[in-house]
Amino acid sequence: MVFSPEDAFDLCLDRARELMGVEKFNSWLANASFRGYSGNVVTVGLDSDIRVNFVSQHYKDKLEGLLREITGNDSISIKFTHRPETLNLGSFSSSFSSRDQLFDNYLYPEYVFSRFISGPTNELAHASAVAVAHNLGHSTQNPLFIYGGVGLGKTHLVQAIAHYVRDNKPGETFAYISSSQFTSDYIRALDPSSSFEHSSARQMEKFKDRFRKCDYLIMEDVQFLAGKDSTQEQFFQIFNELYLMGKQIVLTSDRHPNEIEPLEERLISRFQSGMLADIKPPRFETRKAILNQKLRDENIRLDSNVVDYIAESVTSNVRQLEGAVNIIAANMRIQNTTPSLENVRNLVKEFLGSASRRLNPASITAVTADVFGVNKEALKGKKRKREILVPRQVAMFLIREMTELPLEEIGDYFERDHSTVVNAIKRVNTLMEQDPSFSRQVEEVKRSLEN
Ligand code: ADP
Ligand code: MG
Repeated sequence: MVFSPEDAFDLCLDRARELMGVEKFNSWLANASFRGYSGNVVTVGLDSDIRVNFVSQHYKDKLEGLLREITGNDSISIKFTHRPETLNLGSFSSSFSSRDQLFDNYLYPEYVFSRFISGPTNELAHASAVAVAHNLGHSTQNPLFIYGGVGLGKTHLVQAIAHYVRDNKPGETFAYISSSQFTSDYIRALDPSSSFEHSSARQMEKFKDRFRKCDYLIMEDVQFLAGKDSTQEQFFQIFNELYLMGKQIVLTSDRHPNEIEPLEERLISRFQSGMLADIKPPRFETRKAILNQKLRDENIRLDSNVVDYIAESVTSNVRQLEGAVNIIAANMRIQNTTPSLENVRNLVKEFLGSASRRLNPASITAVTADVFGVNKEALKGKKRKREILVPRQVAMFLIREMTELPLEEIGDYFERDHSTVVNAIKRVNTLMEQDPSFSRQVEEVKRSLEN
């Protein structure tokens, strides 16, 4: 796929939002606008000199790195400006090789097989991913369905497959997409008003063609297909076409296919017809190995009893382990010394406390209110205006999804009964299916809570 410079910059901002977290992003980059492109320089407008200075100092390298990754052009740089400038729309197309026909194609450079540490709780998923990367569409492993909780390495493994294909299989291509992106692209293809040139039938063909052409279809977070009937139908067709052509399908989900509800019976059975591999939280030895890798990356040396302490205390997932190391690294930079066991104990305790404080009804409601631009008190109140009602339903939906609290308890928090919560969840699913920009907002709330 060929990006216009503007699209590439949009994608770059999306990724930056994800990496920085919504709050920081909103403080510095929310108003960043694409102003033009010429001679490998992207000009980006910001709305004050303060922002221009700060962003140039703190985020320029990161943004340029992302943009280079997205476009494949290593000479690109960014200039920030406060003054309005005239538009100059060049094209990045020349920097794309034809086999880079991916879309949604951001891959984290570090998510490769050589950096994935396998242990008893992830080795089936790991071995299957390696096998699938080597052999295209072998029937016993097609589809490969990897499932497990957040932060356990699903994305790492499937991106490793994509990296492997990109680096070692010149004739083969992959498509890497989330089920939410699939849904919103599908909805856009359905809508004839979204294109001046093409009828909706043409657009639908173009939409399908992108998938038909790939050898590997990697779709993340298929649990979000739940409740989206027409998207499921479309995905089922594409799945079958690819499957019959001997192409490899790789799916990730936070739960077993049987637990994705509501999901059409025939998709449930397709999802289970190849290799089903779950990932569980890593055990002590694996946590230690992952920690040591991360410490090496950060150039940090800690006594082995300190490493053991961290590996013993931070147990729920790998992202959390990485978070703990980041805190320790930041602290070391400030203190300029190697922390003692005592220091690390305190840091880890505080870190774990704040992590568990983060995902609860109050925090989820607050972030939802923030992203939807409404008052968080109003979400707990009685108003039934749509501006309030919809974000309230989103908060209910996300609390259910992210905390797994029982419906009754969620209802209690909003002083409503559990059937209101059930309706809210249904309504949000439907809205997400109908409205891509709404669905992006919901995703944004999730992302910023997960960071
Ligand atoms: P998920 O997609 O399951 O939520 P990710 O793949 O995003 O999880 O993993 C979260 C973080 O933990 C990533 O930075 C990833 O590189 C790291 N990680 C997870 N599992 C492993 C592993 N077995 N070895 C090394 N790093 C891992
Ligand atoms: Mg993931």
